[in-house]
Amino acid sequence: MHGNLIGGQWCEASEVSENINPSDTRELVGLYARGGREDAERAVSAARAAFPAWSQSTPQFRHDILARAAQELATRKEELGRLLSSEEGKTLPEGVGEVGRASSVLSYMAGEALRVTGDRIAGLLAGSDVEVTREPLGVVGVVSPWNFPIAIPAWKIAAALAFGNTVVFKPAEIVPGSAWALVDILHRAGLPEGVLNLVMGSGSQVGGVLCSHPGVDAISFTGSVATGRRIAMDCVSGPVMKRMQLEMGGKNPLVVLDDADLDLAVECAVQGAFFSTGQRCTASSRFIVTDGIHDRFVRAVIERLKGLKVGHALEAGTHIGPVVDEKQLNVDLSYIDIGIKEGARLAWGGKPLDLPTPGFYLQPALFTEVDSSMRIACEEIFGPVATVTRVKNFDEALSVANATEFGLASGICTTSLRHATHYKRHAQAGIVKVNQATSGLDYHLPFGGRKASSYGPREQGQYAVDFYTVIKTAYTSA
Ligand code: NAD
Repeated sequence: MHGNLIGGQWCEASEVSENINPSDTRELVGLYARGGREDAERAVSAARAAFPAWSQSTPQFRHDILARAAQELATRKEELGRLLSSEEGKTLPEGVGEVGRASSVLSYMAGEALRVTGDRIAGLLAGSDVEVTREPLGVVGVVSPWNFPIAIPAWKIAAALAFGNTVVFKPAEIVPGSAWALVDILHRAGLPEGVLNLVMGSGSQVGGVLCSHPGVDAISFTGSVATGRRIAMDCVSGPVMKRMQLEMGGKNPLVVLDDADLDLAVECAVQGAFFSTGQRCTASSRFIVTDGIHDRFVRAVIERLKGLKVGHALEAGTHIGPVVDEKQLNVDLSYIDIGIKEGARLAWGGKPLDLPTPGFYLQPALFTEVDSSMRIACEEIFGPVATVTRVKNFDEALSVANATEFGLASGICTTSLRHATHYKRHAQAGIVKVNQATSGLDYHLPFGGRKASSYGPREQGQYAVDFYTVIKTAYTSA
């Protein structure tokens, strides 16, 4: 049994949860502790107790621990990639790639620990000197989703630790294995007790304590908009109004113009919408296609989809692994049903698949004749389901792309510099891609969205410091 880490000790919990492989539901990936409110409270106390010493530790000390952990992740990326793919269902190359990314993130953030700067500014009064410095926030609660079970925790935890904060980490219930492995590695890399605590358990119980506990100073959350809203209320309703960073859902458009390179557009569309089983917040689930290329684009996407193999995540040759669990599969299927009832045309796929191993397999689904007001074009499905909306011209494409409550990623395929430039300026999204899939982002660059997709400062890269530190302005007269 894999326990929770509280105050430097691995602890059992009164309940245990089974980690099941979505590629083969007969396979138990492992048994993991399922903590409750008391465990979360003990973890917060441990993180508070560890904060004074950790916040005063040298940047070199923090750097070395993160760098050691990065090294171990890199060395074990094949083994941990297998574990990740076994619990989440993304293909083995995607799983190994994600572990590699977590390693790179830790290594980058190790460097950031050494690069915290401040300003010295002349004051307005004679002889007054002003220093502007950054200090750690205190205890950070990290609440993460299931779809990137090691990369997202890594980029939150590494940034929090690099800048001198202590952490209580609550991973998503259905993917505890990658979370546990990451914490184990960081713990053995030399973190003092209580600096990083892991409490696996339910969102409402463990997550609920973190978001309302006065001993927690900030919450970094990634997940759905509904949970994000709930968390936001909890964060501000207690005696301490917590700093929060909420990264949430998306309904990301990919515009394809008549002048696009067709092969490239098809690649961007299929990569962005269906790989990782469409379970990426940056997945392009809405293709918005101008009239002159529409039919050729649809035909070519269907041809490409016919060549993709849906199968066991660990099997060589699989392009698309299973959906993460039965609940998400039912959501995907219910939206496919909604799309048909709304009058859209299911042009390809959308059927559950019976394969040799019992798993949650679904053919990627492509809807055409989709009006942008249909639910399948407005609501986040979070599965391998994409819609095609036909538009007259660039102006209509841009307006349909922006007509959404979300604003995470937005893409365009075009060979026109004028249209690409205009799109980059006017797309209402945190990330814009030209001639690239909307998903797949660099770890050293700022990440986040607008509108309902995001609340608070950006994650990752050198911008991460803005969330994980608080600025102090000190005036001195000698
Ligand atoms: P979710 O909102 O159901 O859960 C996310 C986390 O919040 C889990 O750890 C869950 O246990 C916890 N939680 C649930 N209720 C809580 C509560 N009341 N208090 C505190 N914590 C609580 O999301 P999910 O299903 O795990 O992930 C899928 C969603 O995540 C999608 O909407 C997707 O778009 C989004 N996502 C966004 C990004 C991004 O960076 N914008 C990245 C990945 C995933």
